[in-house]
Amino acid sequence: MNKWPGSVQDFVNEIAASVAVIAYNAAGELIVTACNDSFLDMTGIRRQWTHSSPVAFDAVIPSYARSEFREKLRQCFTTGTAQELEQVYDLKGGTRWWRLSLKPLRHAEEGYVAPQILVTGLDITQRMELMRALEVSTSRFRSVVDAAYDAIITMDQRHNITLFNHAAEKLFWYEASEMIGEHIERLIPEEYRPNHAQYVDQFARSPIRSREMDERNRVFGLHRDGSLLPAEAAISKINVDGVIEFTAVIRDITDRMRLMDLFQKQAITDELTGLPNRRQFIDATRAMMESDEILSVFILDVDYFKKINDTYGHDGGDEVLRALGKAGTATSRQMDIFARWGGEEFVAALPGTDAEQAREIAEKLRSIFENQDFAHTWQIGKIPAFTVSIGVATRAPGESDLDAILRRADEALYRAKNAGRNRVEVNGLTADASQHRPVEGASTRQQPREPD
Ligand code: GH3
Ligand code: MG
Ligand code: MG
Repeated sequence: MNKWPGSVQDFVNEIAASVAVIAYNAAGELIVTACNDSFLDMTGIRRQWTHSSPVAFDAVIPSYARSEFREKLRQCFTTGTAQELEQVYDLKGGTRWWRLSLKPLRHAEEGYVAPQILVTGLDITQRMELMRALEVSTSRFRSVVDAAYDAIITMDQRHNITLFNHAAEKLFWYEASEMIGEHIERLIPEEYRPNHAQYVDQFARSPIRSREMDERNRVFGLHRDGSLLPAEAAISKINVDGVIEFTAVIRDITDRMRLMDLFQKQAITDELTGLPNRRQFIDATRAMMESDEILSVFILDVDYFKKINDTYGHDGGDEVLRALGKAGTATSRQMDIFARWGGEEFVAALPGTDAEQAREIAEKLRSIFENQDFAHTWQIGKIPAFTVSIGVATRAPGESDLDAILRRADEALYRAKNAGRNRVEVNGLTADASQHRPVEGASTRQQPREPD
């Protein structure tokens, strides 16, 4: 077994590279003086001649590849320096890319115009196909990134921005070209910057590779105009040759936040009057009661409201309730809360107010309604005259049960109704529970008597 083939021709045939020697003949024509099978496979020309006999360049190189090839050969001949070119050959089996290197051989051989040129070619089809595939996937990636609804920003280990997609441009009002290479802090409100840097460092060291977008990942971005952008962010990291790169997907939640604010407000607001509703009243008053401060509450009930409904219709009744709400709020102090309890009943919590002061406030309100001493432009023709009855109760020192205080206010209201209505009654300083009617909750009060 002879490892090495006998002739040089056999030897060059064994090399995966394509090899040819090219020269000018005496007539000044390009000829291939020798080549291996790979060279002929490369150009797609079948061998019909012995390797050693020279053949015309044009007979070996397909017409579409000739002029470029010739030009490089000419440069190689005239400058005496190595040249390179990439050529595409269309073969039956498909298109193939070759990288050809042209080198002048040192000595001219007899019969040829000196020197000859050694052409060696490497099949780079696979690499080109890989590059093409990479290009395709890169442009696919680019189009996905740019079509994304969410802002996508990548940054390098030093927190400099390396990618800024269209959605990011729209969200932050910066062009990608302005932001590439900039530090990510430009997009973070100043007060969050120290935290952010720490968070990213921690994330870089953590074994977790991505953090999803959820409620916990609420962040604020800094808009070009200086405003805060409420957002949710998902981040991930990849290790590129030992260097960590980060990708953040940022979703603008301004609309959602607005909606949530609205829902939150709706949940604690009475629709008809715009006043705080019962839930808000209870929460706010319980919060007031966290301090040991004195506090009074009152419950206000419109007298003979059924009659107002009967006379002016339900819409008329509604308008009375709205006017009453407005006047009640206008009469309240900043720290008070005036709320709609339900139906034609209103409640107020008056912090720092003892029974006597609360009685005065309630009395003032009562007289405002009796005297129609409030601003309202009535939509319902005739102005309805109405009065209210109010029951006041005051928190006993250390008392923490709001329901109990409200029950006492309700008892006072009951007395006001029984005593002829259009009155204020106070149930202030009796903290002795045995004196009170047993009632399950503040809302299940005994109804005032029907008018006679
Ligand atoms: P009094 O309190 O003086 O004993 O008499 P009243 O007529 O006000 O008695 P009651 O509390 O029994 O009646 C309240 C009425 O209020 C009954 C109900 O139809 C009406 N009402 C409750 N909620 C609304 C509302 O949102 N709009 C209107 N227009 N009427 C309401
Ligand atoms: Mg009532
Ligand atoms: Mg009533």
